[in-house]
Amino acid sequence: MTLIYKGQNLFLDSMSINSIAKNNQTPFYIYSYKKIRDNFSIFSNYFKRINPLICFSVKSNSNTSLISELGKLGSGADVVSEGELLKALKAKIRPNKIVFSGIGKTKNELQLAIKKNILLINIESESEAKLINKISKKLKKITSIGIRLNPGVDANTLSKISTGKTDSKFGLPKSNFLKLCRNIEKLKNLRIKAISVHIGSQITSVAPYRKTLNVLYKLIKLSKINFKYIDLGGGFGIPYKKKEKKINLKNYSTLVEKFQKKLNCKVIFEPGRFIVGNAGALISKIIFIKNSGKTKFIILDAGMNDFVRPALYDVKHDIIPVLKSKRKAKGNIEFVGPICESTDTFVKYKNFFTLNENDLVAITNVGAYGSSLSSNYNSRPLVAEILIKSGKTKIIRKRQKISAII
Ligand SMILES: *Cc1c(COP(=O)(O)O)cnc(C)c1O
Repeated sequence: MTLIYKGQNLFLDSMSINSIAKNNQTPFYIYSYKKIRDNFSIFSNYFKRINPLICFSVKSNSNTSLISELGKLGSGADVVSEGELLKALKAKIRPNKIVFSGIGKTKNELQLAIKKNILLINIESESEAKLINKISKKLKKITSIGIRLNPGVDANTLSKISTGKTDSKFGLPKSNFLKLCRNIEKLKNLRIKAISVHIGSQITSVAPYRKTLNVLYKLIKLSKINFKYIDLGGGFGIPYKKKEKKINLKNYSTLVEKFQKKLNCKVIFEPGRFIVGNAGALISKIIFIKNSGKTKFIILDAGMNDFVRPALYDVKHDIIPVLKSKRKAKGNIEFVGPICESTDTFVKYKNFFTLNENDLVAITNVGAYGSSLSSNYNSRPLVAEILIKSGKTKIIRKRQKISAII
């Protein structure tokens, strides 16, 4: 990520975290615009020869200002709810760059999407197709849809974020997919424009993507449908620790180029984590330090309600001091949150930098599935979000007033 030390002081881009924390109550999320822009252009560059439509996955970070910044860079949006669709529109993403995913879209949500003429509604069941047809007929509209396939591919990622296996609730298995394609032809207010897949998240190997492309190619030939768009979803993994693997997008882009040439279609991607994951940190203050037997607990003012990935997925995010001490202290420490849950713990270290109560720390790589997964659990207000852009800080979400949740 873009956090670096200048001397002992932690900086994000050219801004000292310590000075930002003087004017902002902790915990707060802080993002680097530069990193987001760079990630978006790195991703676009890998695929520039196929000129895909890149629809940022709004659920990975649903801050309206960030969506708007990405929109200005050329991104569309992949949304999964009425709220996300309204945010994307507010961020001035054009409807013809918005795709709507999800297995349980309600009548109200579909109505909004149909009225707004978005690029695609990616459907996942026959019931959904019938409902969209009915609403479209009433509104005298012809609605463009994609059909989400469950390719039966194991993404080899955390099981809780794997979505393309045969037993997953997402998409339609191959046989049902073909049946639905035939049945949809009877629904006069629908047009099948796309086939879509999304096999999971934090995928670090190209192999499952390769398998998916093979399944897609065979099925498209079998279906005899000329899909205008092929929506290949997101899921591109990032390294959370220095030595961790990241996905080899160069290899993947070669495969997608061949695939696209054979089928002559427009490719859509829906990256989330890859664009924002390493662009954000959660800044937190140490409330208390307590010695309990073999472990020293470092109790932070950020908890699992502010950042739930460690509790939800059992993953580790590195925590680093905002002012790095010159010495390290011997022994085991564990960073924990203040919430009344045993899962409200972040990470353990041995022989860490010396820390004191009231010191600030940064939880790293929290730009994706951080703020967007936060909650009011324990009746705690949602925290502020700050964007660093061109050497300035901008509050892109105010800390929620406690009165709003009383
Ligand atoms: C969550 C999701 C994405 C984004 O996944 P990342 O791992 O963040 O890239 C894309 N498409 C769909 C349908 C999703 O549900």
